[in-house]
Amino acid sequence: MYDDQSEKYKKHYSELKPVDIDKYMLIIGAKEVEEIKWLASLLQGKTWCHVNSTFEGGGVAEMLKSVVPIANGLGINCRWYSIEGNENFYSITKRFHNIIQGLDQHFTIEDLLDTYLETNKKNFLNKRIVADMTIVHDPQPCASIVHGNYEGKMIWRCHIDTSEANEMIWNFLLPYINNYDGSIFSQRSFVKPGIKKPVYQIAPAIDPLSIKNKQRSEKEGYDTLAPFWSKYHIDPDRPIVLAVSRYDVHKNQETIIKSFLKLKKDKTIRKLKPILIIVGNSATDDPEGMEMYRKIKEIAGNDKDIYTLLNIENNDEYIGALMKVAKIFVHISTKEGFGLVVTEALWQGTPVIGSSVGGIRLQVINGKTGYLVNPNNINSIVTFMKHLLTNHDEREKLGYNAVEHVRDNFLITTLVKKYLILMRFILGIDFPYFTI
Ligand code: UDP
Repeated sequence: MYDDQSEKYKKHYSELKPVDIDKYMLIIGAKEVEEIKWLASLLQGKTWCHVNSTFEGGGVAEMLKSVVPIANGLGINCRWYSIEGNENFYSITKRFHNIIQGLDQHFTIEDLLDTYLETNKKNFLNKRIVADMTIVHDPQPCASIVHGNYEGKMIWRCHIDTSEANEMIWNFLLPYINNYDGSIFSQRSFVKPGIKKPVYQIAPAIDPLSIKNKQRSEKEGYDTLAPFWSKYHIDPDRPIVLAVSRYDVHKNQETIIKSFLKLKKDKTIRKLKPILIIVGNSATDDPEGMEMYRKIKEIAGNDKDIYTLLNIENNDEYIGALMKVAKIFVHISTKEGFGLVVTEALWQGTPVIGSSVGGIRLQVINGKTGYLVNPNNINSIVTFMKHLLTNHDEREKLGYNAVEHVRDNFLITTLVKKYLILMRFILGIDFPYFTI
């Protein structure tokens, strides 16, 4: 178990200082800032912990690195712990993740008992977490609830789409989930039957002040990327179709490449000379990433218009800038809890071609912020790619709507606000009558 005093945490977050909520005033307005301060006013000095499985990589870490400093800035004592596991543990929890999302994969009773449960137990051997509210994120540390090393209200936060979870894995997790005081899902439709405790619905969010998500002009984006263009020999004047995600079977990068290859056969498109840039990283809790990267690279072959990149330098700065200068962002996962990358691209004003699954449907409003497609329908993906690449005005209109849609629904301040409402509710502190 690593805590926020550990060397591992400091390696990533030496700069994570409390953040003043007033900094968000220009983006969300004074009324919203005052409301958040008021919610926090009766939570002064309360302790709020998060437990997850990695300090870096993936959407959960991305959100926690903003939620924790904002909560501390609001006068709440917010801590972040990450469990420690070996390669085998992460390989099993990755399989859990896949099986929960509907893939047909195998695990043994030894995997569950000797590795999954044992790792959960080991992490708490010398650790006791005492907090007014602790949020445990995703299946990896879910079973830690039974080891009696938590004190205070406990919430399990599920970030993945469990609606089609395999019965066996769901029945295995249920007793643990029901040991919590409640659980949070990103969407009501993700909740499978059997949960006996209160369930709350809270959507994920992005931090508009982070290096990645700060709003930038196109010129700033191009200038920031100058070293990137030269390192990868990319001509920035060519229209960019962009995809960003972990290399993972559900992210469906293979279909993006196949669609792009088909798109390039179109006569009008050939004149535009678009390029496809796929950027991905590997998380410590995702052992399949490298293998998937090799596979995707192989599918792209030697095509000179396709760039498949792994763990790019200046990750946050370059990804934010790429999302700004890209003409289209494509995210056609076959399963997706939420898809923060979609939020990030929309926030940079770039229309998204997204698959009509999970949380993408909350973000891509067909014909308003982008287009929804079936993740396996190459023809419709190609049609929308062509439509957007050849319609500047349409891109502008969708891009404008995209920014406003994110501002209204998916900024980190909204997420913090909902967590504070939940905290006041479960601690019985002058509960304000908002709906979560
Ligand atoms: N990400 C990144 N660099 C990469 C690939 C992904 O920083 O090369 C970030 C991405 O910007 C987003 C997060 O990782 O903030 C992925 O979150 P998402 O919800 O899209 O997917 P998850 O990985 O949680 O399934």
